[in-house]
Amino acid sequence: MNLQLTDKLALITGSTSGIGKGIAEALLKEGAEVIINGRTDERVQDVVKELSSLGNVHGVVGDLSKQDESKQLIEEVNKIGQLDILINNMGAFEVKPFTDVSDEEWMSYFQTNVISAVRLSREFLPAMLSRDTGRILNIASEAGVKPLSQMLPYSVTKSSLISFSRGLAEITKGSNVTVNSVLPGPTWTDGVASFMEGAAAEEKKDLDNFTRDYFKDNEPTSLIQRFARVEEVANTVAFLASPLSSAINGSAQRVEGGIIRSV
Ligand code: NAD
Repeated sequence: MNLQLTDKLALITGSTSGIGKGIAEALLKEGAEVIINGRTDERVQDVVKELSSLGNVHGVVGDLSKQDESKQLIEEVNKIGQLDILINNMGAFEVKPFTDVSDEEWMSYFQTNVISAVRLSREFLPAMLSRDTGRILNIASEAGVKPLSQMLPYSVTKSSLISFSRGLAEITKGSNVTVNSVLPGPTWTDGVASFMEGAAAEEKKDLDNFTRDYFKDNEPTSLIQRFARVEEVANTVAFLASPLSSAINGSAQRVEGGIIRSV
């Protein structure tokens, strides 16, 4: 299927590794022009170099949990061109008991997981609406629908992001712009791999058996009983970024292998 993304300009936040980098690769393979973002120039330039064989890649450095750096990033992006696709992918999480999380940490979660997407959407949506074309995709999580007690700030901010996406989509009514959220479940990124490898080694178990047991014990509702691959999430995002998905607006698309046990 040709996703008709040739020469569309896409910004993917937090794309020097993990799902964001996978999304950048998927869009490049479909002919899109891509802007990579991360917090250090070195990482951004490494990934720009690595992906440049796939197509036209730019890099913009900026910690998007910070207002001034987001402002700078917006200026840089506007110098590159008119944005067709905004993918708010960057997000942070930590496993921590609820009673140990301070007010400051809660506020930091909102800055990183919600306000970063709010700022960029506020900047880029008006131009998309006036050109009557564009896509905004917010990478949330199954945890936004199925909150996790050991990751409450993460879960609550991902619920907010899903709600933000639906509300923002209302503003696009009658246009060809769409706003959707994507809800990945456990996904096998390098970060997840090193965590699981460490945990398996600690229990002196082989990684495959450890992972199988992990799903049996911790994710019994998962229908796939495995981690999703980065490409599986990225391909879903690429489709939602495509003009072919024009009737999908205001949705919360699950890519969580069926963990959320509801119709
Ligand atoms: P990751 O940690 O592998 O990659 C995150 C990227 O974001 C890195 O490139 C990092 O440098 C960048 N980044 C982090 N903070 C940043 C900041 N303040 N400003 C700019 N860049 C920043 O993450 P991932 O696992 O690929 O997750 C990507 C998104 O998918 C997140 O929103 C996450 O919540 C969501 N998600 C991931 C999983 C999973 O299992 N991996 C599951 C559900 C949802």
